[in-house]
Amino acid sequence: MTEVTVAGVTVDTRHWIGGERVGSADTFTDVSPIDGAVLGEIARGGRAEADAAVTAARAAFPGWAATPPAERARLLHAVADGVEARLAELAIVETTDNGALLRSHLRGVMPRVAHNFRFFADWLTDSLGHDDFDTRGHENRVSWDPAGPCVLITPWNAPLMLATWKVAPALAAGNTVVLKAAEWTPLTASLLADITAEAGLPAGVFNVVQGYGEEVGAALTAHPDVRRISFTGSVPTARHIGAAAAANLTPVSLELGGKSPLLVFADADLDLAVDLAVEQYDNAGQVCLAATRLLVDAAVVDEFTTRFLAKARTLVQGDPRDPATDMGPNIHPEHLARVDGFVRRALDAGAKALLGGGPHTDLGGLYYRPTLLTDVAQDAEIVREEVFGPVLTLQTFTTEDEAITLANDTRFGLAATLVTGSRERARRVGARLVAGTVWVNCFFVRDLRAPFGGARQSGVGREGGTWSFDFYCDVKNTVTSPNGWH
Ligand code: NAD
Repeated sequence: MTEVTVAGVTVDTRHWIGGERVGSADTFTDVSPIDGAVLGEIARGGRAEADAAVTAARAAFPGWAATPPAERARLLHAVADGVEARLAELAIVETTDNGALLRSHLRGVMPRVAHNFRFFADWLTDSLGHDDFDTRGHENRVSWDPAGPCVLITPWNAPLMLATWKVAPALAAGNTVVLKAAEWTPLTASLLADITAEAGLPAGVFNVVQGYGEEVGAALTAHPDVRRISFTGSVPTARHIGAAAAANLTPVSLELGGKSPLLVFADADLDLAVDLAVEQYDNAGQVCLAATRLLVDAAVVDEFTTRFLAKARTLVQGDPRDPATDMGPNIHPEHLARVDGFVRRALDAGAKALLGGGPHTDLGGLYYRPTLLTDVAQDAEIVREEVFGPVLTLQTFTTEDEAITLANDTRFGLAATLVTGSRERARRVGARLVAGTVWVNCFFVRDLRAPFGGARQSGVGREGGTWSFDFYCDVKNTVTSPNGWH
């Protein structure tokens, strides 16, 4: 079977290579986290499909690189039009595949998918040009030249948003793309292939291969004809990808996990602090940026905790397609077991659950209760490792220095959020926090012109605005002498 119908939407289960649907002898089963329903048997690519996709991307590269920027931008806007036209379909398919809230997909995620294409199309035509410098009459002309076929590998927690955050700048820059979607959420990448074809993208410019990371993903990242690899996912996988890329010296961008802090100072607006803290349960805690370590000034911790628990207890768990639901299921039984394992071990080590502490037994399935653990040691696994579920820890501090020390005492550095009523403190503390993004009295808001990425083991490199083009391009300097002309 080469097609499945998911929530009334037809999805092709094959790869999209060189402008054609291509099957594989093997398949893997895609299951909905909402109810365990089998959604389809998806083509399971391997080395042959990786080779075919890179070959197609390589063949299409010269034509796409030579396409005038205005025409590339027009086609990317046409892709955005297609996303908008099929927004409701993309939203319900993604919700069915990964269990995130339908209302978030409709209002936030899918509009952002379209915006990713529009933003980078506009950046290409409006902002990306040439820098000129003059050295003793010699003109230095800096240009951003397309690099070649790019392999983009993405996770399951926000599949299409994270994929298009890479696809759009890579294509805008004049590169061709092979996208490897996560095996737990393969469906919307396939719909995106349809949309790019309808928009008129030439064959081979955008390719999708489906399959397991250690199979087709590994083959793609080891391929010598690939000019860029951009990966979003976990630290252990990043190590494999980095090693594979090193063999060919392929440049890599890595957007990885985190264990981000949320610092609540005694001068904070506590209602705001509580809202921001409860927001960390969004997407059932499956958000790389989630501030999972709540660090609260001891002077206000009792009041904060009381208000936090009152608000968190109002969260409605259930079917993510229901507009009344605040928290859907976790992605997969293996993942749920991993999340629960962290919590069990923390409780065994002496942590106390102020909220939750286990699966939602009434709902069953993959629903995990929003959990808040206190009495956790700074060196405890639950404080140090990314859980990627609805599990927060609560620790206190008594001085600003202690807050900063606790916040920075991690091998990650993706983000940090601080809540304070003092601008001076915000500047002081923000300057000392180690993080790719620091939010002050807010969370998750970000302009796409700004850099995004992580410090320490949360990533290598930055994407966003000009940083994306710096990564996806071979930046070239052409120096022209004033002499020697006829
Ligand atoms: P993962 O690392 O297990 O998988 C991510 C992708 O890598 C999948 O497509 C997978 O198939 C592929 N993969 C696995 N092994 C591979 C290999 N050997 N070679 C090539 N590809 C391989 O991560 P996940 O569980 O899907 O996602 C969760 C992780 O992603 C968390 O750590 C989360 O913090 C992180 N994440 C980071 C960001 C960010 O922007 N920094 C955003 C979302 C998620």
